[in-house]
Amino acid sequence: MSPRLTCTVCLCLLAACGSTPRPPAPAQAASPTAPAPAAAAPAAPALDPPQPALRLPRNFVPTGYRARLALDPARDGFTGAIEIDGEVRERSKGFWLHGRGLKVSAARLIQGARSVRVDVAPVGEDLLSLHPAEPIDPGSVTIAVDYTGGFDLVQGTGAYRHAFDGVPYIETQFESISARRVFPCLDEPDNKVSWQLTLDVPKHLVAVANTAATGETALDDATKRVAFAPTKPLPSYLIAFGVGPFEMVDAGRTRNGTPLRIIALKGRAKEAQWAAETSSRIIQLLEDYFATPYPYDKLDQISRPSPFGGAMENAGLVTYSSRLIMRDPAQITPGERLAWVSVAAHELAHQWFGDLVTTAWWDDIWLNEGFATWLAAKIVAQFEPAWHPDLLDTAARETALRADSVVTARRVRQPISNAGDIFQAFDGITYQKGASVLAMFEQAIGPDKFRDGVRAYIARHRYGSATSADFIAAISEVAGHDVGPAFRSFLDQAGAPVVRSELRCEPGRPPQLALAQRRYVRPGSPPVAEGTPWQLPVCVAYDRDGARGQTCGELTAASAELTLDAKACPAWVFANAGGRGYYRISQPEAALVALRDRGWKLLTPAERLILFGDVSAFAATGELDIGLELSLVPRLLAEHNGVATIAAVDAAERARRVLADDQNARFDAWIRRTFGPTARALGWQPGAHEDIDSQRSRAALVPLVAWAGDAALRSAAVALARDWRKLGATTRGAILETAADTDPATFDRLLAAAPVETDPDLRGDLLRAVSRVSNEARLRAALALALDPRVEARELFPLVFAGRDRAQVRIVDAYFRDHIAELLARYPATGELGAVVLANAFLRRCEPAQRDDAAAFVREHFGKLVGAERVMARGLEGLDQCIAAKGLLGPKLAAWLAKLPR
Ligand SMILES: [Zn+2]
Repeated sequence: MSPRLTCTVCLCLLAACGSTPRPPAPAQAASPTAPAPAAAAPAAPALDPPQPALRLPRNFVPTGYRARLALDPARDGFTGAIEIDGEVRERSKGFWLHGRGLKVSAARLIQGARSVRVDVAPVGEDLLSLHPAEPIDPGSVTIAVDYTGGFDLVQGTGAYRHAFDGVPYIETQFESISARRVFPCLDEPDNKVSWQLTLDVPKHLVAVANTAATGETALDDATKRVAFAPTKPLPSYLIAFGVGPFEMVDAGRTRNGTPLRIIALKGRAKEAQWAAETSSRIIQLLEDYFATPYPYDKLDQISRPSPFGGAMENAGLVTYSSRLIMRDPAQITPGERLAWVSVAAHELAHQWFGDLVTTAWWDDIWLNEGFATWLAAKIVAQFEPAWHPDLLDTAARETALRADSVVTARRVRQPISNAGDIFQAFDGITYQKGASVLAMFEQAIGPDKFRDGVRAYIARHRYGSATSADFIAAISEVAGHDVGPAFRSFLDQAGAPVVRSELRCEPGRPPQLALAQRRYVRPGSPPVAEGTPWQLPVCVAYDRDGARGQTCGELTAASAELTLDAKACPAWVFANAGGRGYYRISQPEAALVALRDRGWKLLTPAERLILFGDVSAFAATGELDIGLELSLVPRLLAEHNGVATIAAVDAAERARRVLADDQNARFDAWIRRTFGPTARALGWQPGAHEDIDSQRSRAALVPLVAWAGDAALRSAAVALARDWRKLGATTRGAILETAADTDPATFDRLLAAAPVETDPDLRGDLLRAVSRVSNEARLRAALALALDPRVEARELFPLVFAGRDRAQVRIVDAYFRDHIAELLARYPATGELGAVVLANAFLRRCEPAQRDDAAAFVREHFGKLVGAERVMARGLEGLDQCIAAKGLLGPKLAAWLAKLPR
């Protein structure tokens, strides 16, 4: 799955989408008074397992599903009939299945010639209890259930209905635990079985599912029945279907002749061109890596009828946000080409990592997501080196290190104790840390050996499930030693190491680099005990008589010394050569100045970015002067690559967060001086045939300088916004935000247009634009849209997170506190995103006086939600870090500002 919330300047390779399996809840013996079946030999007592807390008991295990659904995008709700083949493992009089919001009208159990009525009752939020009229002996059975269900109109999980260009569609999103919204089933990833779907749909519409259609028959004048081939073994979360007036676009075939199609929304087939051109090449690169053909009978990649929602790797039917898969060929930009290739590579890598071999339980979801993220980066590197894949990896690693800088960070393999833990497992730790740790060990073991281990792992577990232990065993075999302790030091404990690196030169002895490790945590966090030492490969680049030398070793204890191969004492050292190490380097400030002034040119662009990230990290803790960090900003801009520019802009944005209100004007002047010339040269609109670096730099620089008060850029945005329908999707959002803030008339037009626009992509840009305005009266007018019935609940997030600076955030915070009941009525915060997103909206005011009040408010309104404890703890720690940073860095930044020329 891909991240479901889009980021603005998204550097991360947006690739999509738990382990020792927790044993099933022990089935408990039935009460001894349960009557035995009549006229039988003394039977064993029949099992009636109690309500499970998390995992279902395994006294009944499905072996296959046949489901028929009647669906019409023009109507709300659906009817279903499902036959579940399975094994009763112990004599039972009660069974459990997952089912959420399903109303069962009839159910029976067939065993041999016997058919037994089954009473089905919903229990809790997502369980069905099944009680056959008489106890069932072990053996094969079929449970048949007739039921009705509804669409998720808020969060777009389960089956959801959405309109695009005014036309309604039905599609699905089952990961992680939403198959139960559509099918009574065992909704856990280790139950991999065959599914056969049949869909009854309006006859003028197209129905698609994981497998090819095997037949279509007319039911009546208006309805047809479409049957699909049984799937290979799949977990419930990978089942998918779609119904609507889709347009099919041929995308070629795999080497083995498997057909590839892009499924476009009505009238948009020509926008599928880039996806259609590139899919077979991506599949070929993946087949080469795995040395295994694409494993399913067809591959459809389908547009979602909304711009929200990332992408999802359903076997044979991958879904993508319309913004990723449909692009106007006349306007497509290099960044949009990259976004498609990187997300498609991620989702298609999942066809092997995730679909063919599935994580056995959600605590090992990194086996899907970390892997797909890591492998997608390799595919992108082969696909188009001009996209600077190495720098993108570096940026993704920095994202992970920041997510890992709180005491409340999850582990990569975090135990799952409730549904909230499942929802929260899809975070930067699973994706980017998982991928970064893989890249580090791949480098240390050797890419070819590592690939052989991956191939062995896939071959050994194909069509089944696997755990981290299975993967570690496969890699250990090819490495020739047990890699388990090293891997587990990163998978099973939270946080990221700091490696303190200090050069020691003594006469008559080669230079030594003293290395010591500890956990990186920023001020404001609660104290944390050091865990077991990480076992990390360390490569050091250093000055060897004016040239670059390199030495590699390992740090497996709290400290170690590495002997450098140099005659003289090196002028500089950099202890993350190649940039694959998942750790931060701390050095004395003088050593960093030497590295900046004498080593900078001998580092690779990726290493320079890493150096900057580490300097920023220790400026944030107060260990280094923030002036040293900002002294690197002009050097990054001089790199002339978009990723370095984004890192420089990011540093400016972070510094702004700790400014006192009366320092803004001086800071804005510095921004205009430092970033302005490049921003004005780039302008808002791309030139013809522009490269990805110019595009990335524009997206970061031009809004920064415009918001720092550049009058020319602001009035240019207003002029461009007059014809806003003609703007390209890449630049449109930033132009509209600036224009809405600059010109009241533009704001009024966008505010009126947002709730009636029919293109969801454009609606999103309009809503974001009006929500970023500085003027209080206009900001309040924008916030009122959050409670306007024309704006859908799932469109609320830009409004809830409205406001750019501290003054606006105060207004937004007060507004939603005043309207909390209406907000929660519109967006019931019970689902995957609700708790996380909404709770964090109220922890944005980085003000010590507000802190306890904010914590109490969030606890009162969100504290009872499943998984809320972890969300609130992390949100509060972030708030505490922000408050601490203001106190610690504010004075240093003021001193730095005072030294700038007026
Ligand atoms: Zn994924």
